[in-house]
Amino acid sequence: MIIGIPKEIKIYENRVGMPPAGVDALVKAGHTCYLEQSAGLGSGFTDEEYREAGAVILETAQEVYERAEMIVKVKEPLKSEYSLLRENQILFTYLHLAPNQELTEALLEAKVVGIAYETVELSNKSLPLLAPMSEVAGRMAIQVGAHLLEKTNGGRGMLLGGVSGVEPAKVVIIGGGNVGINAVKIAVGLGAQVIVLDISGARLAYLDDIFGGRVVTLMSNNYNIAKAVRRADLVIGAVLIPGARTPKVVTEEMVKTMKPGAVLVDVAIDQGGAIESMDRVTSLDDPYFVKHGVIHYSVGNMPGAVPRTSTMALTNATLPYVLKIASLGAEKAMMEDEALRKGLNVYKGKLTIKTVAEAQGLEH
Ligand code: NAD
Repeated sequence: MIIGIPKEIKIYENRVGMPPAGVDALVKAGHTCYLEQSAGLGSGFTDEEYREAGAVILETAQEVYERAEMIVKVKEPLKSEYSLLRENQILFTYLHLAPNQELTEALLEAKVVGIAYETVELSNKSLPLLAPMSEVAGRMAIQVGAHLLEKTNGGRGMLLGGVSGVEPAKVVIIGGGNVGINAVKIAVGLGAQVIVLDISGARLAYLDDIFGGRVVTLMSNNYNIAKAVRRADLVIGAVLIPGARTPKVVTEEMVKTMKPGAVLVDVAIDQGGAIESMDRVTSLDDPYFVKHGVIHYSVGNMPGAVPRTSTMALTNATLPYVLKIASLGAEKAMMEDEALRKGLNVYKGKLTIKTVAEAQGLEH
């Protein structure tokens, strides 16, 4: 199959749909890869590295779209890319169609086969192409929190792990799923005192098993959250209820009880946020603000800060699917792989996903 890898054009997007290692695997399997020139530069991959891996470099996105049977990207197509899409072309990328009627209509009109990373779902209901980004964001949340706790950034002037003879910082992680467990790992590794709260008893038991005595697990309820937040130096919001708006488990009143210079990192902000006082989504170039004397960090695309790691984490997960689609064709690959079939959002002019149809009042 002929695979096209265009450069991402969304603001602050430095990831790329395929690293040189992926091109190498595809070319060795007998496929052809066209890459838009400098598409990998934001993630630190040069055209030369891609060429060595067997890619053909083209000057413009248009040339890539014209030749490719399958486009592999990271972000949804933007307006300027709509007209580049061709009938029957496979588009494999994050789409997030539910809130985006304009894009949905553009994809239907273009009659592409649109498979969205975020709806590929395994039989245990997990989302294998979202998980790597949660892993990145969870680990980054502690790194960001540690940085903001430094005095020069307005924080309490504390080292997360303390030193001998000095108490370490108290880190409270609300939600112990993919983001939460990765935040716990890094916080424990740095020597912080860690409390993790979740509403799932089974999840708390699992966290207790794997981290032993190094974390305190607590049932998530209003009482326990209020008590933990009041004492915390760093709070991480990592709550998710699939398909629903995130509940505001940390209220503004709780934030008012926190110590001056304490830090809140709301990773769940992309789904509405778990912290009431976090009243805006921030961006990587202006990531935090101060309210009630507490630092609030609410970047909606945290993995964008570490595009090299994020590209490799994402494409480790996407490549097996890309290889499957390339060798079998989209139809056969989706017939054989139920997880991939769940990723199908639009098929040659038809909307094929119920959640998007319901969100937009359309037929599917
Ligand atoms: P997940 O489903 O793996 O984990 C969510 C956890 O929250 C589950 O363990 C669930 O039991 C728990 N939970 C639900 N209600 C709770 C409550 N009231 N109190 C405590 N825990 C509760 O989800 P995830 O992959 O960890 O993602 C968490 C959030 O982070 C999502 O909103 C996701 O979109 C977001 N995210 C944001 C970024 C970013 O850049 N900001 C990046 C990746 C993920």
